[in-house]
Amino acid sequence: MAASPCHQRTVMAALIRRATSVIGYNFQNRHFFSPAVPRMEETGLYGCHHLKNPKGFQRIVDDAIERSNELVGYISRMSSSSEIIDAMDEISNTVCQVVDSAELCRHTHPDREFVDEALKASMRINEYLHYLNTNLTLYDAVLKAEKAQTLMSEEAKRVARDLCIDFEKGGIHLCAEKKDRVSQLNVEIAKCCAQYNENIAKEPGYVDVYPASLIPKNLHNLVKPVNRLTSHGLRVNIKEKGFRIVTDPSTVSAVLQWTSDDEVRKMTYIKSNSVPHANLGVLDKLIAARHEISQIMGYSSYGEYALQSNMASSPYVVSSFLVELSKAVQPKAVEEFESMRDFKRRKNSQDLELEPWDEAYLARSMKSSAYNMDFSVIASYFSLSQCIEGLKVLVESLFGMKFIDIPLAPGESWHQDVLKMVLYQPNEGDLGYIYLDLNSRPGKYPGCAHFAIRGGRQVSKTEYQLPVIALVCNFSKSQNSAIVRLNHSDVDTLFHEFGHALHSLLSRTDYQHFSGTRVAFDMAETPSNLFEYYAWDYRVLKKFAKHYSTGDIIPEKLVTSMQGSKKMFAAMELQQQIFYALVDQTLYGDQTLSPIDTTSVVADLRKQHTNWKHVEGTHWQTRFSHLLYYGAGYYSYLYAKCFASTIWERVCKDDPLSLETVNETYGMCYAKWQFRSTVLFFVWGNCCFRLVFANKQGIVFPRVIWAMALYEMMKTS
Ligand SMILES: [Zn+2]
Repeated sequence: MAASPCHQRTVMAALIRRATSVIGYNFQNRHFFSPAVPRMEETGLYGCHHLKNPKGFQRIVDDAIERSNELVGYISRMSSSSEIIDAMDEISNTVCQVVDSAELCRHTHPDREFVDEALKASMRINEYLHYLNTNLTLYDAVLKAEKAQTLMSEEAKRVARDLCIDFEKGGIHLCAEKKDRVSQLNVEIAKCCAQYNENIAKEPGYVDVYPASLIPKNLHNLVKPVNRLTSHGLRVNIKEKGFRIVTDPSTVSAVLQWTSDDEVRKMTYIKSNSVPHANLGVLDKLIAARHEISQIMGYSSYGEYALQSNMASSPYVVSSFLVELSKAVQPKAVEEFESMRDFKRRKNSQDLELEPWDEAYLARSMKSSAYNMDFSVIASYFSLSQCIEGLKVLVESLFGMKFIDIPLAPGESWHQDVLKMVLYQPNEGDLGYIYLDLNSRPGKYPGCAHFAIRGGRQVSKTEYQLPVIALVCNFSKSQNSAIVRLNHSDVDTLFHEFGHALHSLLSRTDYQHFSGTRVAFDMAETPSNLFEYYAWDYRVLKKFAKHYSTGDIIPEKLVTSMQGSKKMFAAMELQQQIFYALVDQTLYGDQTLSPIDTTSVVADLRKQHTNWKHVEGTHWQTRFSHLLYYGAGYYSYLYAKCFASTIWERVCKDDPLSLETVNETYGMCYAKWQFRSTVLFFVWGNCCFRLVFANKQGIVFPRVIWAMALYEMMKTS
């Protein structure tokens, strides 16, 4: 249950909330970007003819700035509110396309010159964004449009309100003195974040282990050999071989899972949770600066300030959600904890207590003794090409749509592995384009992410700008085989990212401001979490998971084992995430006890909400960089998980691939298709789930929804 942001999300104030769209947009030529060119004429990167070479990035930045300046010039003279909002959205669209294409290029292009130019373009366009986000002319115009109350559509009203809030988050409405202070504090926050990360990189910590035999063989590639001089009886200065464990997160995770020696795990756990010490001070400074900003803006805490445009809308709602979730999960987590303790006692024939450094090791041992799964056997059913087939099966069954492979025009692609597909619906034609860049290669972005290249928006009464996105992963070819076979965790990730992709491709908002994943922060992960369920359901898997050489369908028994293993410690894992989210809420919550002692907050919350003890002297919060990026938003992941779980249980579980079932349940308002309407609900944030459930339940308030979500979640774990 990793909770890191898995799709690219650049949160910026005002015009660009979450960068997610395409390329230089030319007012005279709205089809500047034409991915469906039937004739394969030479074009540039992503179909943008200016990007035939790296220097083209300078040109698209120039064009975007020129066009935006022109619109900024017009906007103060515009009298109609809808004209103002349209113009704002066009500025945002123009700038977003540059930001997003540069972002994708920086992370994936194999040509260094392209990467360098994309980086320069990013810097220039971000500077320009700062100018836009602090531009009083734009703010006044948006304020006027919002106050006039003449905007016709709900979506337009919401764009206006949202833009005002975002501008004000940057302090544009404050007096000069307060504005200066906010700028100073923002600089300080940026410095703290950089310092925090630098300290982690500079001081990962290490543990030297002797003798070398204490480290299992499968970890030898992760540790460094070291020596020391020792004495043995009468013999002195004997060279003893050992290993140095550098306590970076991935090594620590492997050591804690695979090392049977208690002492080695204990040393590793303690060291990794007590470096870098300097970050205690950095975190205090960061929390204080964020708190001061929220005070200047008139909020009682940073949490309150940060959550105002989220669905949850206030820290009170979030903490009640987390506390209720914690209570619901407690009995099951205690059961799991006790089974783990019994396992340890049986293994050691002693009345031993569980220690925090036992968790990963015992969980892995218990899972493998219960299910004994061979991961390479599982992977042989998930060749990458079959998994792509699986995605096609999903859109066809669920939405009656097709993903059709289309050729790339000369110059459009950035690597020979890149594939392009169009999402097609028989009655409506093309709905959007997706680039797939799924294989790993040196220098490429190491994670999996969904990059939007262009957001959808209504350009005129008859013309809709189709979304264009890229799905970027890092799947590697197995040794001695040209076929890429995925571990099931990779399949899970692919389906998750595909959920984001569909959210972008199917959303039909009038304004690109709300297109695709540009929704309330705590809603963005719902479609992706929903699609993870499809990667675990046998009825779905049997449609595409076929052995790469024999063509046999994956055995149901194997899938049952995979599911069993996944659920084995689900409650304890959930508890851990609740604890993280509560730490994030508390540190950015009420500061009446200022300055807050972060270590005792962490220790208390661990005691209250998990079964694990706090180890004196450790301070895990000095390495949890989600505290920088999420800032009171870490709960979002759990929030989305709850919604996804409820949708799955209520809507999809009985017959996950049925168009009819899904149509009937999802397709109740606004749109023609089930998922599209849900996507629209996502846009509407707060009220969306009330509407989703209103169909069967009458008016349902968030509290009731949590209760349902909790119930469903516990039932399935
Ligand atoms: Zn995600």
